[in-house]
Amino acid sequence: MKQSQETASTGTPTETVEAKSLTENAGDRYELPELKPVGSVEPGKWMRSIVIKDEITRYLNADGTDFINDSKIRTLIEDADRAKSENTEVDRKQIDDIVAKSKSIKSLTLEEAAVLMRIRDPETRAALAETALSIKKRVYDNRIVTFAPLYISNDCVNTCRYCGFRHDNGCMKRQRLSMDEIREEVKVMVGTLGHKRMVLDVGEHPDSDYDYLMHAMDTIYSVSVPTRTRAAANIRRINLNVAPMSIEHLGMLKEVGLGTFQVFQETYDRDLYAKLHPGNSPKSDYRWRLYCMHRAMDAGVDDVGLGALFGLTDWRFELLGLLSHTRELESRYNGVGAHTISFPRLRSAQNAPYLSETKSIMSDDDFLWLLTLLRLCVPYTGLICTAREPKEVREEALKRGITQMDASSKIGIGAYARSAKNQEEDRQQFMLGDGRSLEELIGDLADAGSITSFCTAGYRIGRRGGKIMRLLRDCSEGNFCKLNAIITFREWLDDFAGPEVKAKGEALIARELDEAKKKLPQFMNQFEPMYQKTIHGCRDLYL
Ligand code: SAM
Ligand code: SF4
Repeated sequence: MKQSQETASTGTPTETVEAKSLTENAGDRYELPELKPVGSVEPGKWMRSIVIKDEITRYLNADGTDFINDSKIRTLIEDADRAKSENTEVDRKQIDDIVAKSKSIKSLTLEEAAVLMRIRDPETRAALAETALSIKKRVYDNRIVTFAPLYISNDCVNTCRYCGFRHDNGCMKRQRLSMDEIREEVKVMVGTLGHKRMVLDVGEHPDSDYDYLMHAMDTIYSVSVPTRTRAAANIRRINLNVAPMSIEHLGMLKEVGLGTFQVFQETYDRDLYAKLHPGNSPKSDYRWRLYCMHRAMDAGVDDVGLGALFGLTDWRFELLGLLSHTRELESRYNGVGAHTISFPRLRSAQNAPYLSETKSIMSDDDFLWLLTLLRLCVPYTGLICTAREPKEVREEALKRGITQMDASSKIGIGAYARSAKNQEEDRQQFMLGDGRSLEELIGDLADAGSITSFCTAGYRIGRRGGKIMRLLRDCSEGNFCKLNAIITFREWLDDFAGPEVKAKGEALIARELDEAKKKLPQFMNQFEPMYQKTIHGCRDLYL
């Protein structure tokens, strides 16, 4: 158990109070590398030094092939298309056997996933959506973890044909935030909105390399803002969604308190990948990206987040690609696969040519079916549904077993501190679909019977990697997380909620406490004093 920061400041809500960097919990203080000034490194030279061949080849199969077996994936998709054209439905017993495996919290093989993919009967699909939700509840209970993105630089050397940050988009207003500017963003995120978790995003550029990220993370963790209860609010977990890195740099990022390392493969189809990522930029190397999670694992970063960008090609290819990826990691790294999977759908973006070329825009129905399938394929993996999706879709996604959502999200550079009211196409990577505030989302989740969790205990207490995977697989992770969710929800209600959401939250907490007393009596001696202390203004207590 960790003791609280019993900080009570007399300052105003926008004033920064002194805080110990959270990463100091880990013990020895890390050393920050020198921060290169903007423009001091020539991008062309830098690009040539990025991809380290040996950090790809060591992971290839003995015959030099990758774990993504294109021809197998294509054959499974062709089989599904044939079954559709012959109007054959999938055998009921086969479905039941596969779903029984999902219910026993085991991941599915590619062949099993492909069988489920073939189901077309709407009633069977609806029944499986219910099963997906029941699996999510067994593993993760009724918790939804929230976070917010923070974009700190939009310069990029790559020319991804679907992205507004692409190097050759001359209309994008390029900016890299200084450490002072980052501090201003974080003050709003923690002091006004009440976020505790963030995902940090940048384009790929020498000016936003590992050294900049390390300084940014150190700065973010050091910001602490007093709330209306005069408790200290701060970011407790930083996940990164950035370019692939070397083992050395990933190890350095871990030292500064990296939570989950997320990199989306975009598409697992290597021919399409080459077309969408042209030129000699680092992202044009499919394999450098494909093996970045192997490198993360070897660097000791054992919470990794996979993803694919849906809308680039046949979604079934990406589903089977993601499944291949997490199974490969599990087989190499003692059962530790993806901690989370993301499934962003293509959104409109400034001067992104592929948006008008793609033939694979995914319908809402297909998207929701994909989520059902993902939950059944990887029953214990966190599923992140971002504010790219509109509110109505995210509400349906909740019913398929997603586990994480962002809210109050602003993705224009500097947009939190500017209090930007509208989205800013010339500063954003793409446009968002759900503009709900965190408070609105929390109220809507409470209406739907879900508790919002700000818990960040796992990685700080060592429940990560193999440990968290084992707890998730035997459905006991929820024991700690339920109680930590209650504590962090209590904090947020007292520090940030308006009267309406507070009333909803109180009713929800009362139900949660009742349930916890019945289901988790063994933890109550530990939990009760923490909960009481939290009510009296202590913060950041966890089991
Ligand atoms: N620049 C880093 C990279 O490419 O890995 C960081 C990624 S970016 C901050 C996060 C993700 O946004 C990308 O990996 C991609 O999947 C997604 N993305 C890019 N363009 C998009 C668009 N037009 N609509 C929706 N998502 C998009
Ligand atoms: Fe750059 Fe990432 Fe956008 Fe590609 S997706 S252009 S790498 S920011």
